Amino acid sequence: MEKMNCLKVINLKAKIHNQEILRGVNLEIPRGEVHAIMGKNGSGKSTLAKIMAGHPAYEVTEGQVLLDGQSILEMEPDERSRAGLFLAFQYPVEVPGVTIANFLRAALQARLPEGEEIEATEYYARLYEKMDLLKIPRNFTSRSVNEGFSGGEKKRCEILQMAMLEPKYAILDETDSGLDIDALKIVAEGVNSMRCPERGMLVITHYQRLLEYIVPDRVHVMVNGRIVLSGDKDLALKLENEGYEWVEQLESVSS
Ligand code: ADP
Ligand code: MG
Repeated sequence: MEKMNCLKVINLKAKIHNQEILRGVNLEIPRGEVHAIMGKNGSGKSTLAKIMAGHPAYEVTEGQVLLDGQSILEMEPDERSRAGLFLAFQYPVEVPGVTIANFLRAALQARLPEGEEIEATEYYARLYEKMDLLKIPRNFTSRSVNEGFSGGEKKRCEILQMAMLEPKYAILDETDSGLDIDALKIVAEGVNSMRCPERGMLVITHYQRLLEYIVPDRVHVMVNGRIVLSGDKDLALKLENEGYEWVEQLESVSS
């Protein structure tokens, strides 16, 4: 019997255009913990996130992903989401003409059984409660999704979406480019405010800096499509100070 109450990646191998990108990823995120994946550009971090979300371009050749013991790789992206997985993308799309309030309502509505409707007053009560928690101004939700948003506003939208969906597991792929300190803080406050014993979170990042605001329970280092090293929060500091070269050497020993 597989262990429940964790998001587990087992020997995951995947390729795109016949090129192997993930070469056997193993990872276990128990509910209640925040884990971070670090690694140089091109090491496969975003590929892992996209495969967890069900991106169709990647071919999984081996391995499994289990959400509370349930295999998700056969599921469509929306089924995964209903099973409790949330993914924030590195490059969120614009949805012109659709307000954030309506977008989030549709996302919640999609999770209800046939024939059930979200009640408007209940919905807005919940929306405003989450917005207050995240210190988001009320006029924010009347804007179109991601249209003309600053980096910080995109992050706010993403975090609000996560707060509304209340996922069992959240994966945030945070690119370093274009994330100023304010945006980093928005992400960090969002993640920290959603930390709870029922939820596991995975934060993917290139820089240690984000991890000054989000103190992770575990840090994993990805090199060339594999997690080659895991440790506590101090590992992030060590990588910031000493770079990735010494970890890459670990990889050449183990492969
Ligand atoms: P990271 O997020 O760690 O920077 P990625 O997962 O984006 O790394 O990329 C890992 C490797 O996979 C890189 O060598 C990249 O060029 C390759 N790759 C990712 N997506 C594609 C794609 N759509 N087509 C071809 N190669 C890709
Ligand atoms: Mg990436």
